[in-house]
Amino acid sequence: MAKRVLVTGGAGFIGSHLCERLLKEKSEVLCVDNFFTGSRANVLGLMDNPNFELLRHDVTFPLYVEVDEIYNLACPASPIYYQRDPVQTTKTSILGAINMLGLAKRLRVPILQTSTSEVYGDPDVHPQTEDYRGRVSITGPRACYDEGKRCAETLFFDYQRQHQLPIRVARIFNTYGPNMHPQDGRVVSNFIIQALTNQPITLYGDGSQTRSFCYVEDMVEGLVRLMACETASMPINLGNPVELTVEELAMRIVALCNSRSAVTYRPLPQDDPTQRCPDIGQARERLRWSPKVNLDDGLMRTIAYFETRLSGASPLLSLSMRAAS
Ligand code: NAD
Ligand code: UDP
Ligand code: UDP
Repeated sequence: MAKRVLVTGGAGFIGSHLCERLLKEKSEVLCVDNFFTGSRANVLGLMDNPNFELLRHDVTFPLYVEVDEIYNLACPASPIYYQRDPVQTTKTSILGAINMLGLAKRLRVPILQTSTSEVYGDPDVHPQTEDYRGRVSITGPRACYDEGKRCAETLFFDYQRQHQLPIRVARIFNTYGPNMHPQDGRVVSNFIIQALTNQPITLYGDGSQTRSFCYVEDMVEGLVRLMACETASMPINLGNPVELTVEELAMRIVALCNSRSAVTYRPLPQDDPTQRCPDIGQARERLRWSPKVNLDDGLMRTIAYFETRLSGASPLLSLSMRAAS
């Protein structure tokens, strides 16, 4: 019998790719989303598949369904969106985790939480290993997301200890690829749209802060492997360990787009981490996983996606031009 898999946040960027992958493996997929940052468009190509079901629902409210596995992705991931309604972000992280853990507890099924590198805050250990406890602002503008995700991890481990629930926790580092929301303000999508439209590239601060970028296909492979791993009873970093500055990223994207865009400097947002790079030793050892898609290949695929969207949808073009001006 086909496995029934619940993906919360399944109409979002990573969730839509995960749904597609699970359907390819012949699972039945129940995608639950309130469309806060995700959209039907991301899963339009899956709608005709009889094994796919889309349910509009907010995970801060209880959900009674019957499934064999749960991936909990519901939560806005872009700083602009998670700071737009910070109270809702905290509710989504914490009440959403409680409801999905309650569901997993009733059904006695494995549940995977998509946590984040943000649990490390602005780190003073580099690269970040899972045993590093982080340097996170409790009260700053990013805290709704960072502390929400930290508390969600606490809940996962308490349900494991108190109710012997099979849990998995993935700490995801910056991920990019097709289906990123064009206006969600994340660096890869911003820079690509700006470069494709020959608008100024908005570099926050002096661009010396670092990130490491994982292509979404690699990320989905990591999540599926983690779910299948019964011995991963600790949080596992998933990300690409190749680190570069945001300025270097801008230059790569401008070159790959063959763009005339110049750089314009904007203030660095408060609490913006100065460096971030995963230590993926645990993922390599326990999941036999490491990213396969190099940055240029992943960027080219993402650029092709945004090119298609720009040529097909004029509202996107005009919005991005307004944002850049
Ligand atoms: P996304 O914003 O594209 O997707 C999140 C999805 O969750 C959206 O479809 C949104 O509508 C939905 N959602 C939000 N609140 C909800 C609620 N209350 N009820 C139901 N659905 C809700 O983000 P993403 O990049 O796909 O991120 C997916 C998960 O991975 C998130 O939990 C995020 O924190 C985590 N993550 C992502 C990254 C990254 O670089 N993309 C990095 C670290 C962690
Ligand atoms: N819950 C849910 N679906 C279920 C079972 C529980 O949404 O199938 C929610 C329920 O609303 C509850 C939460 O999960 O508030 C936590 O459930 P748990 O059993 O851990 O706690 P309790 O019900 O005892 O508060
Ligand atoms: N950033 C930038 N210009 C942009 C968007 C983002 O310079 O138009 C920077 C941002 O300040 C951060 C990095 O790029 O240092 C990554 O930002 P993003 O919002 O993608 O993710 P974060 O890692 O901060 O959650």
